[in-house]
Amino acid sequence: MDTIIAPASDANSNPANFPASSGAIPFAVPTSRWDDSAAAQLSPPELLLYRSNLLGSDLTVTNFGGGNTSAKLEEVDPLTGETVEVLWVKGSGGDIGSMKLDGFATLYQQKLLGLERHYAGPEDDDKMVGYLPHCTFNLNGRAASIDTPLHSLLPFAHVDHVHPDAIIALAASSGGEEATKAIWGGKIGWLPWKRPGYTLGVQLRDFVAANPGVEGVMLAGHGIICWADSAKSCYEHTIDLIADAAAYLNSKLAEKPAFGGAVTHPADDRAAIAADLMPRLRGLMTGARRKVGHFSDDAEALEFVNSADFQRLADLGTSCPDHFLRTKIAPLTLDPARLQDGAYLAGKIADYRDLYAAYYDRCKRPNSPAMRDANPVVVLVPGVGRITFATDKTTARLAGEFYGNAINVMRGAEAIGDYIALDEQEAFDIEYWLLEEAKLQRMPAPKPLVGRVALVTGGAGGIGAATAARLMADGACVVLADRDGNVVEEVRAGFAKQFGKDVVRAVTCDVTDEAQVADAFALAAREFGGLDILVANAGIASSAPIEETTVELWDRNYDVLAQGYFLTSRAAWPLLKGMKEQGGTSVVFIGSKNGVAAATNASAYASAKAAANHLARCLALEGAPHGIRVNVVNPDAVIKGSRIWDGDWRKERAGAHGIDTGKELEEHYRQRSMLKRDVLPADIAEAVYFLAGDQSAKSTGNMINVDAGNAQAFTR
Ligand SMILES: [Zn+2]
Repeated sequence: MDTIIAPASDANSNPANFPASSGAIPFAVPTSRWDDSAAAQLSPPELLLYRSNLLGSDLTVTNFGGGNTSAKLEEVDPLTGETVEVLWVKGSGGDIGSMKLDGFATLYQQKLLGLERHYAGPEDDDKMVGYLPHCTFNLNGRAASIDTPLHSLLPFAHVDHVHPDAIIALAASSGGEEATKAIWGGKIGWLPWKRPGYTLGVQLRDFVAANPGVEGVMLAGHGIICWADSAKSCYEHTIDLIADAAAYLNSKLAEKPAFGGAVTHPADDRAAIAADLMPRLRGLMTGARRKVGHFSDDAEALEFVNSADFQRLADLGTSCPDHFLRTKIAPLTLDPARLQDGAYLAGKIADYRDLYAAYYDRCKRPNSPAMRDANPVVVLVPGVGRITFATDKTTARLAGEFYGNAINVMRGAEAIGDYIALDEQEAFDIEYWLLEEAKLQRMPAPKPLVGRVALVTGGAGGIGAATAARLMADGACVVLADRDGNVVEEVRAGFAKQFGKDVVRAVTCDVTDEAQVADAFALAAREFGGLDILVANAGIASSAPIEETTVELWDRNYDVLAQGYFLTSRAAWPLLKGMKEQGGTSVVFIGSKNGVAAATNASAYASAKAAANHLARCLALEGAPHGIRVNVVNPDAVIKGSRIWDGDWRKERAGAHGIDTGKELEEHYRQRSMLKRDVLPADIAEAVYFLAGDQSAKSTGNMINVDAGNAQAFTR
């Protein structure tokens, strides 16, 4: 598919060779990136930040958002002027790789230690979290995380806690404790699984007291915590421990193929299979919110789904809490031979929801929050790869990446023993933790178009780009389709900076070319999982008296404005109609005042626009049973920012009106309007936005004129 310009995802980027010639995919072995000259000028808190950013930005060290770091520093108390010990510890939320100084919570260390008088045992873990804000130093508004006691109760100046794949692989293996001894002797301890909280902090402190000289502790099913006397030595200690674990696992992985070896051959057309499958799965995932999909067939995903041990390990579920909170406790697996069987897919999704509900019922406590969305997050297909669904693209991508981490963990864990998934009740207690629920409840309501996917033809032009921006501003993912590949890529790059690279894709698409149109919608399906909104906007304009209108000019108008709208609608249809259960979908045609009102010397253009308007009404009728709404926005005289008005059309219209092509033309159109106002691309975008979203859920077959008032174009 060479028309795809900027998929900006890992789809197809890393195809695995089959059979794997070098055996298992090895763990990355990190090395120190500490720069003494960069560190020389930094204050103690800045050194902590530097170390945290170094650790967090290295994906061999920690996954997104994972881990936390701390330093116990001397500060002057703003109230008493006395020097006090303050724990700087990564606060709740955020990512140590990209955090700034304001990402740290600061707490009086002595007050933290004094909290123990409120602690009687593990049942007090949740209660202890409530005391943390009372220890805040200097009115710092950053909330302390539940991991804070792990840092405060350890008597060391600098503490790192991370969850790199190579470490979790040890932590989640039946052979992990033995491997820990083999790698580090007695220098690194081992604590059995315990959910993070005050009790784990106490256990760590007691372990360290009973084992003087220990330099870190493996936390089973979770990660590692280690310490040192300075920021640099703590950082390098962490890196060394990860490197030790990775090197040890790699030596074991070299001995036998991963996951029992490959048994399934990867399909050649994985991306096309994903594009076909994802919208159908998405349509089956009914619930309160629509899903956005993410596909990957990277080497890790293929190694796993094609392996002998795939089904056994997939069924065990993920281990590290960081992983399963993103991926749900277990993935859905599909038989690649039955992907065309709709009843099979529907049954598999329904079974997954039933199993999830059963898990909820088995594990729920009297005060557990209500069951959340029961749809699968991770879908695995042998020969094809990994598909993830979430309510927004970034969450879907991250869920996929976290499952990639889980695959790495399973590979390493199985190389030294049996992989051990987290106990079901423990997993549930974390997933439905009341404190976690409170965090979810505090989150702002999602923007109205979150979970929706739009494709905008003519997406690089004035109205197209303004429409895309309007939709993305309210949470939609957008595919910009445009004939001009270079310009549309530029527009995409700009939007990626403004709205984030996850939510926008670009594709070269001439709407008169059936194959390119098909590719554009396949891209929407594969990159985002389907389609909710089609904005048919790609247009041209021409002006000529009837006697000078050539057949070529006539055809050109009808090819783009009538047939182009037909081709894009037809290609969108199967994707759109699959979303009826989720509340339906929307098609918006960008028409023209001239589709309603006659125009002098523009019969080809105006009659083609009229054809598109009537096509919209026909499709509104045909789409209604499928929940597809079809409406039209009729702009007029959108001169500023319009590419149509850049060229001959401007000269032709100026000529037709006997005026110059610059200010006079704009003034002419302004004065011609009833409201005497300019019409801008953003005005059209606002009308499209209204018709695209649920606020117009009861409207179809309509036209909205956005023309500053034109009596000739009044609809009736
Ligand atoms: Zn952790």
